Amino acid sequence: MTTSCYLINRIGLHEYFLSLTQITEAKVIDLSKYTKQLSNLFSSSGNILLISHINPDGDAIGSQLALYQFLKSKGKQVSMLTPNYLQEFLKWMENSDQISIFIRDRRKCRNLISSADLIVMLDFNQPNRMGEAEELVIKSNAKKVLIDHHLDPASFTDLTISESSFCSTSELIHELICGLNGEVFMNRQYAEALYTGIITDTGNFEHGSYTSRTLRIVADLLEAGIEKEKILNLIYNNFSADRLRLHGFALNKRMIVLPELKSAYIYLSKEDLKEYNHVKGDTEGFVNMPLSIKGVCFSTLFIEKDGFIKLSFRSKGHFPSNEIAAKYFSGGGHMNASGGEYYDTLVNTIEYFLKVLNENPWRFENID
Ligand code: 5GP
Ligand code: MN
Repeated sequence: MTTSCYLINRIGLHEYFLSLTQITEAKVIDLSKYTKQLSNLFSSSGNILLISHINPDGDAIGSQLALYQFLKSKGKQVSMLTPNYLQEFLKWMENSDQISIFIRDRRKCRNLISSADLIVMLDFNQPNRMGEAEELVIKSNAKKVLIDHHLDPASFTDLTISESSFCSTSELIHELICGLNGEVFMNRQYAEALYTGIITDTGNFEHGSYTSRTLRIVADLLEAGIEKEKILNLIYNNFSADRLRLHGFALNKRMIVLPELKSAYIYLSKEDLKEYNHVKGDTEGFVNMPLSIKGVCFSTLFIEKDGFIKLSFRSKGHFPSNEIAAKYFSGGGHMNASGGEYYDTLVNTIEYFLKVLNENPWRFENID
C-alpha cells in the first residue's frame, strides 16, 4: 500500500506538482508538537475515555471509533461515551455498540467519567456540546484533550488540538495517529470509520472543505480494501419511504426562496414531522437542497422541537453562516455549515430570522 500520511511522506517535488494544478493544496501543518504531548498522555494513562458530541454525526463517531481502534491495538484500556443516541445510519459501524449513551446509561457513564484519568473529546469545541455529561467532565480530575476542526475552540482542556484546515476530525485524527504510530496505521474497521467521517463531513466530497491531503488519505482507505459502495448505501440509501415523502413535502410546501437575499429556507413544524412518521435523522441533508438553486448562497432549515427551534445553516463561498449562528442563534460551526437554536415559536423565529437577514449589510458583501 502506498502511504499518504503527510507527517511521514511529504516530499518537495510533490508539492511542486500540486502548485501547478487547480487542486486545493492542503495547508502544511506540523502536528509533531501535538503528537509528543499526546504520546506522553496516552502512555501515562491507564483509563482513557473518548467522548463525542450530542447528536453525534458521522465524523464524531468516525473519529471516536478510529481513535478507539488505534488505542486498543496498542493495548490501552479505552471506553467511549456519547451524550445521546446514534442515528440509524451509523449503527452498522463496528464497535459502535461499545459506545455508552449518557441519557440511556447515566450511572455507567458517570462511572466512566469519574474513573478516567484521560478524557479525549472529539469533533466539538464548546463544553456544552457534551450535554448532561458536561458538568461531570469539567469537574473531573482527568487530564483533558480536545481534538477538533471547528473555529475558535473554548479553553476548557489541558491540550487543545484544533485545526480548522482539516475537512473533518477524522482526517485530523488519522494524521495524528500516523504521527504517533511512526507509520501509517490501518485496518478494516479503522478505515471504515475514517471513510465514514470524511464522506459525511464533506457531503460525499460536495463541500469545498476537502483538500489534496483528504484525497490521498481516501486513496489509502480504498487500497486498504474498504467496500465503498456498501458504506455509501448504508449511509445514504438507508431511509424509509416516509422520509423521502417528507423530503418532497418540505421542498414542495415548506421552502421559501428569497432571491433578493440570495437565500432560501425550509421550515418543518412538529405536526409536519408527525404526519410523516419522522424518526431521528430523517431531516439530515434537507438544508443542503436549496443551495442547488441558481443564485442561492445561504440556506436555513428550521425544525420545531419541544419549546425551541433548531436551526441548521449552509452557505456557499465566503458567506459566514457561523457568524449568524453564533451572533443571533446561540450556536456556531463552520463558515459553510453551522447551526443554533432559538427559544420561541416557529412563526416568531422565522420573523426574527428575516429581520436579522434584512438588517445586516454584510449579506451581499460576502456572497460570491
Ligand atoms: P447540522 O446542521 O448538520 O446539525 O450542523 C452543522 C454543523 O454546525 C455541526 O457540525 C456543528 O459544527 C454546528 N452546529 C450545529 N448546531 C450547533 C449548535 O447548536 N451549537 C454549535 N456551537 N454548533 C452547532
Ligand atoms: Mn466534524
